[in-house]
This record gives sequence, C-alpha cells and structure tokens, in this order.
Amino acid sequence: MNSAIVWFRKSLRIDDNPALCEACNQSDISSLLPIYIIDPMVVGEDFQDYSPGRTLFLLESLEDLDQQLRKKYNSQLFIFKGNPSKILPSLCLLLKSPPSLISTDYCSEPEGRKLSKHIEKECSNPVTSISFHKNSHTLLNIEKTVSSNDYKEPKSMKDIEKIFSSTFDKDENGFFQIPDPLPAPKQIQPIPAEFRQKNMSSSRVTVFTPESLRDQLQHSNKLGSSESHSYFKGGETQALIRLRKKVSADVNFVNAFEKPKTSSTNLLDYPLEPSTTGLSPYITSGSLSVRRLWKEVETCNRIGPHTKPPQSLHGQLLFREMFYLLSRSVENWDSDKSNRMCKNIKWGEYDEEKMSAWESGQTGFPLIDALMRQLETTGWMHHLARHAVSCFLTRGQLWQHWKWGRDIFDRKLLDSDWALNNANWLWLSGVAPFSMPYFRLYNPCPAGKSSLNVETTEASFIKHWVPELKDFPPKFIFEPHLAPLAIQKQAKCLIGEDYPAPIVDRKESARENLGKFKQSLAA
Ligand SMILES: Cc1cc2nc3c(=O)[nH]c(=O)nc-3n(C[C@H](O)[C@H](O)[C@H](O)COP(=O)(O)OP(=O)(O)OC[C@H]3O[C@@H](n4cnc5c(N)ncnc54)[C@H](O)[C@@H]3O)c2cc1C
Repeated sequence: MNSAIVWFRKSLRIDDNPALCEACNQSDISSLLPIYIIDPMVVGEDFQDYSPGRTLFLLESLEDLDQQLRKKYNSQLFIFKGNPSKILPSLCLLLKSPPSLISTDYCSEPEGRKLSKHIEKECSNPVTSISFHKNSHTLLNIEKTVSSNDYKEPKSMKDIEKIFSSTFDKDENGFFQIPDPLPAPKQIQPIPAEFRQKNMSSSRVTVFTPESLRDQLQHSNKLGSSESHSYFKGGETQALIRLRKKVSADVNFVNAFEKPKTSSTNLLDYPLEPSTTGLSPYITSGSLSVRRLWKEVETCNRIGPHTKPPQSLHGQLLFREMFYLLSRSVENWDSDKSNRMCKNIKWGEYDEEKMSAWESGQTGFPLIDALMRQLETTGWMHHLARHAVSCFLTRGQLWQHWKWGRDIFDRKLLDSDWALNNANWLWLSGVAPFSMPYFRLYNPCPAGKSSLNVETTEASFIKHWVPELKDFPPKFIFEPHLAPLAIQKQAKCLIGEDYPAPIVDRKESARENLGKFKQSLAA
C-alpha cells in the first residue's frame, strides 16, 4: 500500500490547499502523514529570530491545524524541528516503504528554492515523486510568469494589471477569471501505522505534538508575556472568522474600500482593531488562501458599484503579486548591493541610541512611539503607520539604513514576509523605481489633516499606546515638548522626565537628510 507525506510549508490550512488535495485525491494512496517542519534557518536555532508574539502566532496556527486534522479527519499533525532536507529523508526511512508522494507548496525565496532543490535531490527516486505546488501562496504561478518570454518587471499597478490580463481571461463583467479555491478534502487517509505509536521520537528525528511544543516553548520562555497581549490569534479557524466578519459579511466596507482613506490609527475608540481587513497575518502564514480572499472580495464587488485598483482590496492583492514577481526576478532583492531596484544611498552609521529609541517607542515623537509600541505588543501595524515609522527611520528623520528597520519588522510582524517586507522598505526609503518621490516626507507630528489619516480630535490611539500622555490635551499631544509647562504639569507629564524630549529636531533633520539623499543620487 502506498503512503504520502504532506508537508505543510507556507499553507497552514485545510481550505484551498493544493498539496493536501493532490495526496487526498489519489486512490492508490492508503496512508498520509501530515507534517510541519520548524526550520532553524527561518526561526533561528532557538527561536531568536522570532519575537515571542510571532512564535505564539505560529504555535497557535499549528495547534489549529492539528485540531482540525483530529476533529474532522481523525488524523493529526506531526511537528519536527531541523533542516527539512535532513528530516524528510529520515521520515522516508521511518516508513516501512518509501512514500509514493511528497506533496508540498512552493517557496519563491532564494533559500526556499535552494531547499526545494536539495529535497528533490535527496528524496526523489523511482518510487517517490515530489510535488511543489506553485499556486498555493500567490494567484500567479510566479515561476511560470517570470520565465515567460514576454515577462517585463512590473513597477506600477498598470504593469501588474497587464500581466494579469495576459494570464487570466476576463468575464463579461470585467472580472479576471481566477480559478476557484479548492474545497477542503472530504476525507484524509489515516496516518501510517508506523506513526501510530505514542512516542514516535527516534534517534533520527524528534517528533513534537502541538502540546509538547507549547510546553517546550513555555518552559524556555519563548512565548514571553505576549499571551496576555496578542490581539490576533493564529490559525485557520480565526482566519475564516475574520474573513467573514471583515469581508464576506461587510459588502459595503469592501466595495467602498480605498486604502489611502483608511485610518492609520485603527478604529476610533478601538485601538486594537484595524481599519483595514487585518488579514495579513493569516495570508502570510497561509492560514488563509489568497485565492479565497480574492474570490470573497469579487463576490462583494459583483453586488454593486465598487472601488478599483490601486485603492481597492483587489488592488492591495495585486501589489502583493507584483512584489512577489519582483522578489523572484530581481537578484539580491533583500540587499542594497547589486540590486537593480535599490539606489545607492550613503546612509548613516548604525546609531545604537537612535535605533533603540525607535524600536522601543521612546523617540519623543508620540505618533511614532505609539505605533512602535503597538508593533511590539500586537505584531501588527496599519500600512500608512508603517509608512510613517519607516520614513521617520530612514530618509525622514533618523537617516538609518532601511535594512535595520526591515530586520526589526521581520522579527516582530506577524505578517512578516520576505518578499513583501523588503519590497515595502525599498519603497518607503525612497530607493526603488516604484518608490514615491524621496522628497515627499511624512510629518511625524500630524496635528491636523495628513495623508497618514491619524485621528487627532480625541487622539485616543496615542493615549492608549503612550499612557504617559493620557491626560495631555489632543492639541499638544503630537508635539508635547511644545506644550507650556503649566499644561505639562496639569497633564502630570513633564517632557524630558516622564516622557522623552524629541531625539532630533524634526524639521532640521528632514532638511539635512533631503540634502544627503540628493547628494547620494548625484554621486
Ligand atoms: C515598511 C513596510 C513593511 C511591510 N512589510 C510587510 C510584510 O512583511 N508582510 C506583509 O504582508 N505586508 C507588509 N507591508 C504591507 C502592508 O502594510 C500590509 O500588508 C498591510 O498593512 C496588512 O494589513 P491588512 O491585512 O489589513 O491589509 P489590507 O489593506 O486589508 O490588504 C489586504 C491584503 O493585501 C496585501 N497587501 C496590502 N498592502 C500591501 C502592500 N503594500 N504590499 C504587499 N501586499 C499588500 C496583504 O496581503 C493584505 O493582507 C509592509 C508595508 C510597509 C510600508
């Protein structure tokens, strides 16, 4: 009897999972081993590359997947830790006979592609075939698109729409005919007999269940105190609840969605709930299929008038596809060296004080500090908020390299994604061909109307995240050091004592940095 291994890699879900469906649909496969591998190259040897919040989100995603496999399919998830190119061959040896199929999804990152090649070499043989499903994590088949003869690197919404037009037909209403998501399998084959014993760990591999993984992470303090704080709970169940609440059941929200008009400081009086969908953590972990989201948005759009790309929700997903293509076709995407999408700017020396003030939300700029504290606590930040803090760190005020900000985002963001995080830092630091003009800076103290869409009347977001300022009048809260001493005293917050004075003069630093940017471009 044949067996299969389904390796959940970037698609931690049952719905619309091509790798899982392929294995379930083969009648000659009688047993199926669902696995997840924690790769130290990704999370760090000891999870040091993931913040506690990100680690918890991953753990919850695995717990949810395991629960679904158990409850709906009488199966379970086996979790391993180590280099997948070593774990997979060991698993093949633990099975009585080599599996006939290893089915998983495709990763477009350089390390992911290297790993896929290794695994192909180590595991494929006349008995075992390996499938890397290229349509799991994106709408386009990235590999196929970038290798087609007429591929031209997209740098704008118009470019990416052109690529979509040449890939998908349009129906009579002008909607791209994106293939329907695959339904969850009706049945999943039982786990192989060799894996049914209680303690499966051997000299070759250590097996974790979600419970034993949680115990280990808790014991080694890798979950920190984030459990009491995290707002987004990981897993497909939560992803589908959020999808329903924010998209399927809110047609008006979807059809009126214009990204530049959404508030960077979340919903008024609800500083934890995004004004956008808040689905990015689930798309990145693969708990939600991007195709499922696209189709749900399309269903709403078919009901009545709706916004269009680039502002609409489909527009956001098109940006995502554009950056995935670029990250695959542009060499050294994550570097400022030999990267044709990155202008050579002479950024300042690493400044420990500035970097640490930025990261910990102690810059003396309440908006920046509120946002960075939000990131630390919840692992998420609105898109325009990311604009504000990344501009401030780089070309705006602090003149620090975008890569240092990117790495901090990477550790903390629940939606951290190699292709997208690099893309957006390139965009915001002003170095890419798709960047906004480098001289268009955001004011980190937007007391009134601003393209950052900050709520300034109550300033409740600032008061929530920077409680030192909770009694400050909104009029002064964005630049509290300018408040007369009497107001500071009344608000029980002396600037420089109870809350930091600004670490730079915002206008002077902006002027200087624009000069340096211009100089670098001319050099
Ligand atoms: C400096 C910086 C770093 C960023 N790093 C990441 C990252 O690591 N991972 C990530 O998913 N997004 C990243 N973004 C893009 C964007 O901020 C988030 O995708 C968005 O805020 C997620 O919130 P949402 O799900 O409510 O988005 P919505 O507005 O509801 O959009 C729906 C989906 O579209 C996609 N999307 C939206 N905006 C973008 C964009 N600019 N680029 C690519 N995809 C987009 C996301 O998958 C998102 O979930 C970054 C932006 C900046 C400025």
